[in-house]
Amino acid sequence: MNDFTMTKDAAGIATIVWDCLERSMNVMNMEGMHQLDSFIDDALADETVRGIIITSGKKDFAGGMDLNVLADMKTTSGDSPAKGVFEGIMSMHKALRKIELAGMNAKTKKGGKPVAAVLPGTAMGIGFELPLSAHRIFAATNPKAKIGLPEIMVGLFPGAGGTTRLVRKLGAMGASPYLLEGKSLAPAKAKSAGLIDEVSDDPMNDARTWVLSAKDADLIKPWDAKGYKMPGGGPYHPSGFMTFVAASAMVNGKTQGAFPATKALLSAIYEGAQVPFETALRIEARWFTNVIMNPSSTAMIRSLFINKQALEKGAVRPSNVADQRVKKIGVLGAGMMGAGIALVSAQAGMDVILIDQKQKAADKGKAYSEAYMNKRIKRGKATSEKKAALLSRITATTDYNALKDADLIIEAVFEDSKIKATVTKAVEAAIPDDCIFASNTSTLPISDLAKASSRPEQFIGIHFFSPVERMMLVEIIKGKETEDRAVAKALDYVRQIRKTPIVVNDARFFYANRCIIPYINEGMRLVAEGVSPALVDNAARMLGFPVGPLQLVDETSIDLGAKIARATKLAMGNDYPDGAVDDVLFWMENQGRIGRKAKAGFFEYDDAGKRHGYWEGLSEKYPLLDQQPDLIEVQHRLMFVQVLEAVRALEDGVLMDIREGDVGAILGWGFAPWSGGPLSWLDILGTPYAANRCKELQAAHGDRFYCPNLLQEMADKGQSFYGRFSSATKAA
Ligand code: NAD
Repeated sequence: MNDFTMTKDAAGIATIVWDCLERSMNVMNMEGMHQLDSFIDDALADETVRGIIITSGKKDFAGGMDLNVLADMKTTSGDSPAKGVFEGIMSMHKALRKIELAGMNAKTKKGGKPVAAVLPGTAMGIGFELPLSAHRIFAATNPKAKIGLPEIMVGLFPGAGGTTRLVRKLGAMGASPYLLEGKSLAPAKAKSAGLIDEVSDDPMNDARTWVLSAKDADLIKPWDAKGYKMPGGGPYHPSGFMTFVAASAMVNGKTQGAFPATKALLSAIYEGAQVPFETALRIEARWFTNVIMNPSSTAMIRSLFINKQALEKGAVRPSNVADQRVKKIGVLGAGMMGAGIALVSAQAGMDVILIDQKQKAADKGKAYSEAYMNKRIKRGKATSEKKAALLSRITATTDYNALKDADLIIEAVFEDSKIKATVTKAVEAAIPDDCIFASNTSTLPISDLAKASSRPEQFIGIHFFSPVERMMLVEIIKGKETEDRAVAKALDYVRQIRKTPIVVNDARFFYANRCIIPYINEGMRLVAEGVSPALVDNAARMLGFPVGPLQLVDETSIDLGAKIARATKLAMGNDYPDGAVDDVLFWMENQGRIGRKAKAGFFEYDDAGKRHGYWEGLSEKYPLLDQQPDLIEVQHRLMFVQVLEAVRALEDGVLMDIREGDVGAILGWGFAPWSGGPLSWLDILGTPYAANRCKELQAAHGDRFYCPNLLQEMADKGQSFYGRFSSATKAA
């Protein structure tokens, strides 16, 4: 494998080209790093070489480190994994530092060879850390290119010198959007922000000119020059002090300390800022090792990168079905969900027929797309031409005949099986025979809805989350009779709208709501027991959930919760387990405190709908316990009640693939992302501990914590989910 090649020309320029032959995007692994390092040695030692250009043979520079390598690093690093990981990272630091010092005399800083990085397109992760070690970065004028350090998004941080170099280049404050938020920029903006040096139509030519004329002084990085001071000051500088204190508070406010990589990153920045550059690199490597050794990083990389991508690329798509890409979609019901579905479909270039009972309602649904595009134009993210093109693709009407050449229908009318049945029949009278019909129902079993259809094999669930344009998960539900072509159609559609699909079998509440509802219910149970609402919500937020269960039920509305509870009770009869929850739910509903939309729920709201403190009336009805429970006890109740449902979904065959269970939970309802998802979390805990904890929770709080047979069996055998089920998921 040769990911790098080097050529030397008559002018004395050694050009190192990065081109991973078996991939469409360059990614770095240890072998590639070693090859690059050998070429650098060669070029530095060769007297005929005056300077070096590092570039790519592809349209982009590089996508980053091969995350599979990082995920496996600790298992492939021998008997002393932390030492092995640290040494591996330090070998990368040494190679990049060699580029930076470029053979110059350590004392006089003279005699080095200029190294330029030329980026034809996107340069992310180590694809930007490598250029950061060069002396000058040239990028092509390519508005589609992205330059940045996105590691934090998958539970890592830039560990190949990117953290140390960017902080020294831009200062802690300047570097924070790129390091802490993983923000990336197009080349022109990256230049204005000081991330790169030049942007032009012919960066290769400009780099050559620069290399041939560079002086000794041009090769000295600010942090290697005498008297270097960090922009904005270090932690003990008066203004630097403000930055560091504020950053720490802000980051902890946002993450609640639940993300190990963010904490490690802040530590690497803070500690690294107080020591010489080389020591800072060692500190960065130690913190990076710490993150890699934490099971959270492996779980996050696995779910948020490797498996998420595998699902997006069709890992679970029936392979025997030809391309089912959608050209014309019919959306029935132009309410909150229908309007969003119309928008994302039109954004993906499909023609959309948006139907409601009255023209006014259909128009209102289309106006949602208009308002959305207006907002984007205001923010400089869209143009009026784009808006006009998008709106021209949406036809708002009441006429079912407009569906005559549609190839996919998504129904999002009221959650009422009778209305849905009428709509299904009316639509099927108008659509072609091979058109797939999908329902966006959130609670009604697909196999029951399919009874209204004359072609149940073409009937499927495509369940979006609200708001459609922001939520990345789409849950696809197979009814009893749903055939492969319908599944393939749904998956191809989800791919077109660039969201992440999971495919599950039909059951009450499918997968996501099956887990979310117990989470919300456990929150309300805790309140009914006299646990402080603040403790309930904060316990969840400290686990990395975006909102606690009480805030979540306020957002989704308490009357909806009550409606679902009544319908569930009706369907389950004596098996219905949630009486204690209903006390709270129905009482809140009776008080008219139905959530944010009524500006009254578990929280108080002002007239503008801004949330204030918890409503005091709650503790009058449910007096607070004198002795509040331990934080971990509350957290375990909130976590276990969801993950046990995920295990049961797997046991029942609703979940067919553990990857979908984990990715779906993080994207669907923000399940503690640091854990990699519910099944990854059980693996982190270890199934024997988890099974034992179930018993304790069951004894203390009730049968909903009963340990599922599957989990008990795995605990007895000492198995993990990714160990036991990984053969089924190797396709990734
Ligand atoms: P909504 O009340 O905002 O919109 C429903 C729309 O359907 C209304 O505009 C109504 O006029 C229209 N409609 C009703 N009967 C019709 C008919 N016979 N023909 C054409 N149009 C008709 O509801 P919503 O929140 O958009 O939910 C729609 C569906 O999506 C429901 O099945 C719901 O369970 C599901 N869903 C909702 C959410 C959510 O968060 N709101 C999330 C996932 C799924």
